[in-house]
Amino acid sequence: MFEDDGYALETLAVRAGQIRSPEGEHAEALFPTSSYVFPSAAEAAARFSGERPGNVYSRYTNPTVRMFEERIAALEGGEAAVATASGMAAITSVCMAFLSAGDKVVCSRSVFGTTTALFNRYMQKFGVEVEFVDLTDMSAWQAAVDEKTRLVFLETPSNPLCEVADVKALADIAHAKGALLVVDNCFCTPALQRPLKLGADIVVHSATKYLDGQGRCVGGVAVGRRELMEELVVYLRTAGPTMSAFNAWVFLKGLETLGLRMRAHSESAMQLARWLQEQPQVEGVNYAGLESHPGHELARAQQTAFGGVLSFRVAGGRDAAWRVIDATRIMSLTANLGDAKTTIVHPATTTHGRLSEEEKARAGITENLIRVSVGLENIEDLQGDLARGFALLDA
Ligand SMILES: *Cc1c(COP(=O)(O)O)cnc(C)c1O
Repeated sequence: MFEDDGYALETLAVRAGQIRSPEGEHAEALFPTSSYVFPSAAEAAARFSGERPGNVYSRYTNPTVRMFEERIAALEGGEAAVATASGMAAITSVCMAFLSAGDKVVCSRSVFGTTTALFNRYMQKFGVEVEFVDLTDMSAWQAAVDEKTRLVFLETPSNPLCEVADVKALADIAHAKGALLVVDNCFCTPALQRPLKLGADIVVHSATKYLDGQGRCVGGVAVGRRELMEELVVYLRTAGPTMSAFNAWVFLKGLETLGLRMRAHSESAMQLARWLQEQPQVEGVNYAGLESHPGHELARAQQTAFGGVLSFRVAGGRDAAWRVIDATRIMSLTANLGDAKTTIVHPATTTHGRLSEEEKARAGITENLIRVSVGLENIEDLQGDLARGFALLDA
């Protein structure tokens, strides 16, 4: 097996975690099997009792899934990883493994909508208190995190405004009260940001996004210290939201190109952000790569590049935003992100459509806001795709 001997991300992304079978296959093997046969009754007993390691059943372990877990753990700089059926399964599993009735979760207001729903609708139902705070308001975090707090949860950069949180400072706030800091690293991936190195305890991912990178499979993963991941595995084995071997195999191949892709996404997003700033029909651009962005310096300090997602406001209201979106021919009108294909969406009426007017105003989700997840197409073609809509606004 390939060990992390201080190799760089690009090397680990291609090499870490591979288990080669006696067949000597060069590419990672796909093991589509639900169970495993034991060489003897004694060996079966030893594996069931946990006395000897080895495969028993694919809800517990699968070699393809294990390769993915070891590779992503190496990339994040974590001791171990646990793969799950989706990004939400990873977040739910962290909640189920580490929260009890009477505990409190302090969560950023700017997290994935379903994460908010999970805390509000389900965790509260089981007696977990939840408090939401503004991502960049350090005094609000300080005030909210108390002795009852078990989990502190955030995403950085945020969606869709690209606000940036100080992971190290938030880890200190969480640890001072004995809480775990959980960072959803979906937008940056370990290619751009390694929250565990900044003091986070657990990183969660929707592998569905950039880890796959080509929009094929739904999956998730949590990464962290071995003792935390061992607790998480017990929940996974009991509740069952495990990753399928096939999806793990797709994600393994996705990881091989992660560094290249994230660099390309980031370069194109940077170019698009600068171009957008120059367009008279654009009132403002949210991208942490721009020097004018309030999170720019912090992002520069804790990220190696600024990622592929940006948002911008067009002159006008919903009508203008919809005209620009509907005029595109290359970009896909879909709420997904992290794909080789550029996606475009109107947050106020889709991803953030369920927020009240007051919540939208507070979150900066205006009617003229458009979010783009910049893919791998030619940048000039993408600019032309938006320019067509901008020209309509002048008419
Ligand atoms: C998509 C997403 C999730 C949920 O992941 P699924 O794989 O769809 O369950 C969680 N967090 C962020 C930031 C996401 O973009």
